[in-house]
Amino acid sequence: MKDFIYQASSPRVVFGADALQHLEREIDLLGARRALILSTPPQAAGAHALAQRLGDRSAGVFAQAVMHVPIESAQAARAEAERLQADCAIALGGGSTIGLGKALALTSGLPILAIPTTYAGSEMTPIYGITEAGLKKTGRDPRVLPKTVIYDPTLSSTLPVALSVCSGLNAIAHAAEGLYAADSNPILDLMAEDGVRALVQALPVLHQQPQQAEARAQALYGAWLCGSVLGQVSMALHHKLCHTLGGSFNLPHAETHSVVLPHALAFNLGHAPQAAQRLARALGLDQPGAVAGALWDLAQSLGAPMSLRELGLQATDVETACALAMTQQYPNPRPLDARAVRQLLQQAYEGVRPS
Ligand code: NAD
Repeated sequence: MKDFIYQASSPRVVFGADALQHLEREIDLLGARRALILSTPPQAAGAHALAQRLGDRSAGVFAQAVMHVPIESAQAARAEAERLQADCAIALGGGSTIGLGKALALTSGLPILAIPTTYAGSEMTPIYGITEAGLKKTGRDPRVLPKTVIYDPTLSSTLPVALSVCSGLNAIAHAAEGLYAADSNPILDLMAEDGVRALVQALPVLHQQPQQAEARAQALYGAWLCGSVLGQVSMALHHKLCHTLGGSFNLPHAETHSVVLPHALAFNLGHAPQAAQRLARALGLDQPGAVAGALWDLAQSLGAPMSLRELGLQATDVETACALAMTQQYPNPRPLDARAVRQLLQQAYEGVRPS
């Protein structure tokens, strides 16, 4: 067994169908009295309904969260929190809304209560991102980790099937890279394996029956585990590539993860046999060597986009993306060489099944 360091750092988690009924209790437990509710514009109705229900416990709604947290929206949220004398923020939504909550926490110190409605997992991480002048800067800071997370699967049942699938594959990517992280540990390995298992079982059910309550619960449970892994160990090639593709070419977050994952795993798993074994077990496969292909088949059977071309990447961008990705230094199970990474990206661009 390899040496490891394990230090737990997790928000308080309240999980269950109708867990949202405990919101008032959870606000009280934070010692807060006036919550500013954050959402994206499409989820504003839900945010306003929550504000109405909270009555005096609500300071108001700020429904202007957008992808990648532009600094202007973080500043506007902070000004609104000050104007309304909010003493906590509730982030109701996916990674974009929770990201706005984190940016607010970073400069204001307000505690965040997150109510995730996708499977992105941001609520379990101390990682924040803020975009200024077109550049997304990310960092880690314990102040941005939500204090409380309410996981209520009922809220994710409105997530469109296509986004549910890609968001679920995005979550699987956190666990997969966590399994071969240089700083992995046995506890997070258990969480990663079970998170992948829960999601690969739930996603095909949701693809057929998007409202199926047990599958929604299972997928959200998987998202929690995978998000916890993302928050506590270092990610490698797959996440760096997706960060580059999202940040420099504006490709959609969950869909990009979903396309790149089988290719990144085909690249890495031969150099990470224990991770491959755990992933094979989670996928119900006998052969660890079959993991990347099986994930590609799963994504295809669920109607996920299969190529970066479909997501809007231009053929000429592949070279640039490779060059950008190669400028960073980070631990990766397989040593990175430009030709092999270029080939990986080309296959993801074309949507070829990895062997
Ligand atoms: P998102 O939050 O951008 O949501 C996508 C769209 O789906 C939005 O329009 C949103 O309003 C809508 N939506 C969300 N939940 C819904 C629901 N239940 N019903 C109907 N519509 C719903 O997407 P995302 O993939 O969750 O988050 C992506 C962002 O999060 C990216 O910017 C990414 O970088 C960031 N992220 C950060 C971390 C981290 O640890 N910091 C982790 C994962 C993702």
